[in-house]
Amino acid sequence: MTQTPRIMIIYTGGTIGMIENQKDHTLQPFNFDHLMENVPKIKMLDYDITNFQFQPPIDSSNMSPAHWDDMARVIEDNYEQVDGFVVLHGTDTMAYTASALSFMLGNLQKPVIITGSQLPIGEVRTDGEENLITALQVAAARTSDGKPMVREVAILFENYLWRGNRSTKRSADNFNAFRSPNYPELAHIGLEINFLKDNLYRHEEGEGLPLQVHYNFSSDVEVLFLFPGMSRNVITRSLETPGLKGVVLKTFGAGNAPGCPWFLQALRKAIDNGVVVVNVTQCPNGTVMQKLYATGDQLAELGCISGSDITTEAAITKLMYLFGQNLTPEEVKRCFGVSLRGEISQH
Ligand code: ASP
Repeated sequence: MTQTPRIMIIYTGGTIGMIENQKDHTLQPFNFDHLMENVPKIKMLDYDITNFQFQPPIDSSNMSPAHWDDMARVIEDNYEQVDGFVVLHGTDTMAYTASALSFMLGNLQKPVIITGSQLPIGEVRTDGEENLITALQVAAARTSDGKPMVREVAILFENYLWRGNRSTKRSADNFNAFRSPNYPELAHIGLEINFLKDNLYRHEEGEGLPLQVHYNFSSDVEVLFLFPGMSRNVITRSLETPGLKGVVLKTFGAGNAPGCPWFLQALRKAIDNGVVVVNVTQCPNGTVMQKLYATGDQLAELGCISGSDITTEAAITKLMYLFGQNLTPEEVKRCFGVSLRGEISQH
């Protein structure tokens, strides 16, 4: 590392860079120069900052695997030239992107800090300026031996730095918009940036190895959210969708589901046809324990795999990633329960 931190900002869009359309008063993405004009304080950091901008910047509701590929390619192309990356992204799908990038970036040894804001950067009360500046400082932080402090994909928002693939958007208006329900923060942002070193991801085997980017995601997956009174017709058809490869089954409590025969039959049929079904709880935090209740055990008996304490965002992108690597259903099942980037607790 050189003395002056070299950070690349990848601007994808989101509220942080938006500006109000005078005609209909909706927020629309604006360009990187507009963003920078509104944060003159960045110059005080004295960093060597380069940037890459999505053309056009997008509202993150339009995010897709093709955009994840674009971000990963920019990171791959600039990996040796910079010390870290700050990705500016809309908050709505930020946790999906953070999870997807974490799986894509094999052997990552540099920070990829994703941030955005609840209010556009041009607004007087914006949280965007603070988030952007703190994200740059986190990306530039080093350990006492000069290595990057953060060597993973993380989300920086207001008072916290979270592991990206453990995060979820929790509020549409609170400045602390994210949380990580089953993993503690990587840093607390107050008067100081206080890193909790034991919580940071370290991939020792990856040290000295080149970054290995895994492109390709499969979109033949779905999230199936259970509720009392769900329709046989709807659920059965959905599980019979041609080409379906993986399902994140959002279950009750510790991983429980109704025991009605039609539902269990539909699941069995899908699993027998090679569909991988992952059991993930609907609860905002906690873990799946399929053996705790008979209603969970029946899912285990059918061959559903436990999603443990993984978030829905990480679960669906992990399935997309694993199937994108052309693994067989058996291989996907085996890999799913293994922590690839610190996204799941192994029991
Ligand atoms: N709709 C915006 C987006 O996700 C919201 C935000 O940035 O907070 O792009």
